[in-house]
Amino acid sequence: MIIIGGGPGGYEAAARVADAGADVVLIEKDLLGGTCLNRGCIPTKTLLAASHAAAEVRRAGRFGVEVGGPVVDYGKAHERVAEVTDELRSAIESMLAKVQVIKGEAVFTPDGNVRVGDEIFHAPKIVIATGSCPASLRVPGAEYAINSDEFLKLSRLPESAVIIGGGVIGLEFASLLNGLGCAVTVVEYCPEVLPGVDSDIAKRLRSYLKRQGIDIITGAAVTAIDSDRTVHFTVKGKEKTAQAECVICAVGRRPVVPQGVAEADIELTERGFIRVDDDFRTTREGVFAVGDVNGRCMLAHAATAQAMQVMCGEKHPKAMPAVVFTDPEVATVGLSDGEGLRAIKRPYGSNGKALASGETDGLVKIVLDGEDCVVGVHIVGPHASDLIAVATPLVEYHRPLPADVIFAHPTLAEILKA
Ligand code: FAD
Repeated sequence: MIIIGGGPGGYEAAARVADAGADVVLIEKDLLGGTCLNRGCIPTKTLLAASHAAAEVRRAGRFGVEVGGPVVDYGKAHERVAEVTDELRSAIESMLAKVQVIKGEAVFTPDGNVRVGDEIFHAPKIVIATGSCPASLRVPGAEYAINSDEFLKLSRLPESAVIIGGGVIGLEFASLLNGLGCAVTVVEYCPEVLPGVDSDIAKRLRSYLKRQGIDIITGAAVTAIDSDRTVHFTVKGKEKTAQAECVICAVGRRPVVPQGVAEADIELTERGFIRVDDDFRTTREGVFAVGDVNGRCMLAHAATAQAMQVMCGEKHPKAMPAVVFTDPEVATVGLSDGEGLRAIKRPYGSNGKALASGETDGLVKIVLDGEDCVVGVHIVGPHASDLIAVATPLVEYHRPLPADVIFAHPTLAEILKA
C-alpha cells in the first residue's frame, strides 16, 4: 500500500496496516503529523491553553480570589507549541516503526504509479491523503493579510487584529487573541458566524464573544486591504473600515492535490477536491482519497476515520462530532432540524456543577426524533468538547437520553440525563 501524506489521514491507518503485516510506504514532503500537528489543531490548542489561563485569572475575582495581572509572555507560550508538537511528532515516528517513510514530494505518473524524485513506487492500493492549505481572499491588498500558517509562526503577540472570516478557524483565533489581551475585530461575510452550525448555538456564541469585547461584524463583504492594515468592507451597502496591527485571513481551505492526477485519470470536483464515492474511491481503480483533500469533512478525526475504512476495512461511523475551541466552546453532532424532529433546550444554569463553577453561560440543544431517540446534540458552553463525547454514542446508536445509566453528581454530564 502507498499512502501519500503523513497527516491524520495518513499516519494512523498506515501504522495499523503495517503492524498487521502489510508492506506500507508513506510519502511525506514536509513534517509528519500534517496540518493538524504542525499548523492546526495542536498549535492552536496549545496557545489556547495560555489564553484560557489568562482569562481564568481575570475571572478569579468572582470566586473571591483576587490575583493581579495577568501578564502574558507570548514568547513563552509560543515556545510551548514547539515542545508539544515535537513530543507528539516523536510519538508518530515510533508509531510508524514498521512503515517505510519516504521523505519527498509524490507525483502521479500517467500509468497510475507514484514517483518521488527518480524513484517509482507501485502498489495495488494507493491512498491520497495530501490535505489542504489556507485559501486566500481575492481583493486588492490581500497580500497585507496573513493566514493561519503565518500567524502561528509569529512569536510576538499583535496588540490588535482584524480577522476576516467568522468560521471555525477565524473564531478560534479571535477567542485565542482576545483571551491574551489583543483587541479583536471579526468581519464575516454571512449573516451569522459559524455558517453550517445550528443557528441558536452560533447566535449565542456570537453574543458571548461580543460580551467579552470581541467586535463581530456580520453580513460584511471585504473589498480591499491597505498597506497600513485598514480593511475596507461593505455592510448593507454602506462602506466601512476596521484597522489593526495585523490582519488575519481565515476564509477557508483549499485542497492540496498531487501533481499528475489529471494525467492519471483521477478526477477533481468543480471546487478542485479529489472526487470520491462513498467508499472514498477515486475515478482511478485502486486509488483512494481521504481527509481534507476530498472535501467531505475537513476535520482531523474525520480524515482518520475515512482512512481506517479504506485501509483497515473498519466501518465508518455515522455520527461525526465537531468542536469549535472558542471560549466558551461549541460542540455539535448529528442533525439540527428536520421534519418530525423536536428540540429540547437545557441551559447550563439548570445544572448544579455549572452553577457551582460559575460557568452558567451555555446551552445544550437536544434534537429528538418521533421515537424520542437522540438524532442531534448542539452545545455552546464551557467543556462542550468533553460533553459531546457523552452525546455522540446516543446519536451513533440511535438511543434515547439515558434513564438507565448512573451519572456522577454533580457533573455537567447530568445535563444529558433523561
Ligand atoms: P493534512 O493534515 O493537511 O496532511 C497532509 C499531509 O500531506 C501534509 O503533511 C503535507 O505535507 C503532505 N503532502 C501534501 N502533498 C504531498 C505530496 N504530493 N507528496 C507528499 N506529501 C504531501 N481539525 C480538528 O479536527 N480539530 C481541530 O481542533 C482543528 N483545528 C484546526 C486549526 C487550524 C488553524 C487548521 C488550519 C486546521 C484545523 N483542523 C482541526 C483541521 C485539521 O488540521 C485537518 O482536517 C486535518 O489535518 C486533515 O488531515 P489530512 O491528513 O487530510 O491532511
